[in-house]
Amino acid sequence: MKAYRIHGPHTIKLDEMEALPVGDNCIKLKNLMCGITPADVAVYDGRVQTKYPIIPLRQCVGFVSEVGANVTSISRGKRVVAYPQASCHTCKACKEGHYSECEKPLTFGVEEDGFLSDFSVVSADDVYTIPDRITDAEAVFIEHIATALNAMSKLNVEKGDQVVIMGATVDGIILAQLAMYYQAVPIMVDMHEDMLKLAQKAGVYFTVNAVDDNVVKKILALTGGHMASACAYLTNSQLPLQSAWDYTAARGRVAVIGRNGMTDLNCNVNGLLEKNIDLFTVTDCGKNYSSAINLLANHTVSVESLYDNIVSFNDVPAAFEALLADREDNRFKTLIKI
Ligand SMILES: [Zn+2]
Repeated sequence: MKAYRIHGPHTIKLDEMEALPVGDNCIKLKNLMCGITPADVAVYDGRVQTKYPIIPLRQCVGFVSEVGANVTSISRGKRVVAYPQASCHTCKACKEGHYSECEKPLTFGVEEDGFLSDFSVVSADDVYTIPDRITDAEAVFIEHIATALNAMSKLNVEKGDQVVIMGATVDGIILAQLAMYYQAVPIMVDMHEDMLKLAQKAGVYFTVNAVDDNVVKKILALTGGHMASACAYLTNSQLPLQSAWDYTAARGRVAVIGRNGMTDLNCNVNGLLEKNIDLFTVTDCGKNYSSAINLLANHTVSVESLYDNIVSFNDVPAAFEALLADREDNRFKTLIKI
């Protein structure tokens, strides 16, 4: 099989490897499309420590080309999306056979080999069948939708709530669509006018430019003087985290959404204490894959405008370099056709 492996910071090579055996309870995937996440770029440039060499990427759509012994849940030829983490097989829950409750799951592409290869072998429990009406490119976004669902649940968003979303990023725009589905009112804050326009195209009526507008004054006006009952802060938004306390009402809720090690977040928590705000973290997609697939299939969430680049398998090294060079500007998702 052919696999791209990161051998050290800034070194990615296409390696010819031996075909992977398909163990009991496992399936082999013929990979079709993958998505690059900020974590993959961080592994590539050495910001996140890992064991080299490692196959990057955790977001993958493929079809089942082979099934191992004891697999009854899925058959050959099915198109599936892979769950981004593997069970550790060593913790108490795993030893008792409750793999879905694993206490220290391993992220593909960071702690375990990921999917940037023509074939992969995964546990049959770690894939979800996707319907034909979802394209390969759309399916790559399922992890983002599942993460947004996790955030909505932690923020306890209800009908009529005004929710500030800090960051018109891929995750931010998906969150805004979910907020509208919950009949809440998203208020999108970002520094990039082009991304705010994209949010408007996705149906977000209230957008605030953090550079040009007085954000607090504008949110005060939009919320009738109350400020937002909930605020979602995306760690890759480049906005100051402590502004979240200013935008949120007393006894409101703030969720910090992102993965560890991607950005330096320092802030003053006085405002948080002063307003008695509940703070939550959202670092993964929870158990929301089935719901996320459904929301994509019935077009509650649309992701078509969130990717601008489908890279061919041969152009992977250039794509990683381009993402590093453009870290400030590149806010769309990069997909790889395998
Ligand atoms: Zn475990």
